[in-house]
Amino acid sequence: MRRIALARRPTGLPVPEDFAFETGPVPKPEADQVLVEVTHHSLDPYMRGRMDDAGSYAASLALGETMIGQGVGRVLASDVEGIAEGDMVTGMTGWASHAVLPGNQLRVLDDSVPATTALGVLGMPGFTAWKALEVYGRPKAGETLVIAAATGPVGATVGQLAKAAGLRTVAIAGGAAKCTLARDSFGFDAAIDHHAFDDARSLRKALAQACPDGVDIYWENVGGKVLEAVMPLMNVGGRVPVCGTIAWYGGGSSDKLPQIWRTILTKRLSVNGFIIFDHWDGFPAFLTDMTPRVAKGEIAYLEDITEGLENAPETFIAMLTGGNTGKTIIKV
Ligand code: NDP
Repeated sequence: MRRIALARRPTGLPVPEDFAFETGPVPKPEADQVLVEVTHHSLDPYMRGRMDDAGSYAASLALGETMIGQGVGRVLASDVEGIAEGDMVTGMTGWASHAVLPGNQLRVLDDSVPATTALGVLGMPGFTAWKALEVYGRPKAGETLVIAAATGPVGATVGQLAKAAGLRTVAIAGGAAKCTLARDSFGFDAAIDHHAFDDARSLRKALAQACPDGVDIYWENVGGKVLEAVMPLMNVGGRVPVCGTIAWYGGGSSDKLPQIWRTILTKRLSVNGFIIFDHWDGFPAFLTDMTPRVAKGEIAYLEDITEGLENAPETFIAMLTGGNTGKTIIKV
């Protein structure tokens, strides 16, 4: 078995030395367990937080522990009713070539869609978009939504669902190619390259042009310069689902807190932090609604697949600063 373990706690952005590539015997399943040969595993921004020692909404990884993550793979051996050798399954396999998991922590995949979609558009990121847009975004036809990291699995899905609900959708993405993708593949009405602006003020001018009626929903994925640019454009009664602050995952801060806080007050904004795992009981309804839409091509998705488990650390580090185009996946 091959695996990537946490070797050291990062300071700021992780570096390759924070990870260790290790080999060992393939684990053996016991009663009620399943042995999975992992074909693909997911790389997600939240994993950066698990590398820290600081308490968060979920437990930290221990040093030496296999990096956390969802995977998909083929069942090699099973002692669980309903899960047979050869089935494709998904579960929290970690960054590893093999995993032994209890049967009740695995979901058998059907073949109506590619197995890797269970990691992105039909997995945790897609569910985040589907559930939190409804609960915290409360979209209404004719409104305007702005979202950064717009071509990632969360952003691209939020954008398409908001568009289908009749909103004007404005993407913020890193680079001209991602902006083209946002418009052409994910149907955004406008897309702005945040790299083209040195400061929040100039980014705000471009955003104001793209949002002639102001902003009703700012889906917060990044924080940083984007947050500072969007807040003054918010309409009274606007909603800000706070999903992530990736611009600050490696450190950094804003000196605009007094203005941002005042905008929340004067514009009577609803700012809601959420952790999608609190909503997990809604996951079956999400799959029922979204699987056929993805299978029919009504909801587009894009995967960025890197081959080789040993490349997971560098791929992960790159993703945190925009090196990915689409859902980041490792082909083990
Ligand atoms: P992505 O695949 O979109 O990858 C992250 C993207 O963030 C990068 O590609 C980059 O896109 C963008 N980014 C990185 N640094 C900056 C920066 N300084 N300024 C602007 N953009 C930046 O990620 P996901 O779709 O998986 O996740 C999106 C967000 O949602 C993350 O913040 C994540 O933590 C959060 N999340 C939260 C959940 C919850 O329960 N609250 C659940 C799932 C995700 P680009 O090159 O276009 O700038």
